[in-house]
Amino acid sequence: MLNLQKANKYEIDSILQDCGWRQTKQRIVLLKAIFDGKNKHFCINSIEQNLKDTGSFFSYTTLFENLNTLSSKGFLKRITIDKQYFYDTNTSDHIHVFNEDENQIYDYSDYKKLHTDLPLPACLDLLKEYSLVINLKKK
Ligand SMILES: [Zn+2]
Repeated sequence: MLNLQKANKYEIDSILQDCGWRQTKQRIVLLKAIFDGKNKHFCINSIEQNLKDTGSFFSYTTLFENLNTLSSKGFLKRITIDKQYFYDTNTSDHIHVFNEDENQIYDYSDYKKLHTDLPLPACLDLLKEYSLVINLKKK
């Protein structure tokens, strides 16, 4: 997976070029925040908050456009759930579970390990790509 934390100028430039982007300090901050070598799922609001926490401010429109460009160029996978966009740094085909209470998506393989009490249908293991909405309500 992509790790740009210690990327050299050449590596960053090649991504900027693929996206048709001019180099700006803001875009480099964004790329390094997203591609830190860890697989992650996020939505615009959560990445905006992460960036804000490190002192970088992005407008919603800028973020939206930049994330969509990264998705269309294959650097991110975009998942649409309930008219919301989520982004995944793992661009391979895999199954997601949406937890409505937390408004978070998880990889099915991780979710299954975390919630062994949930009756997830075994047939999901046979699918390559699938979106499943699980609505966990606390009783
Ligand atoms: Zn995923």
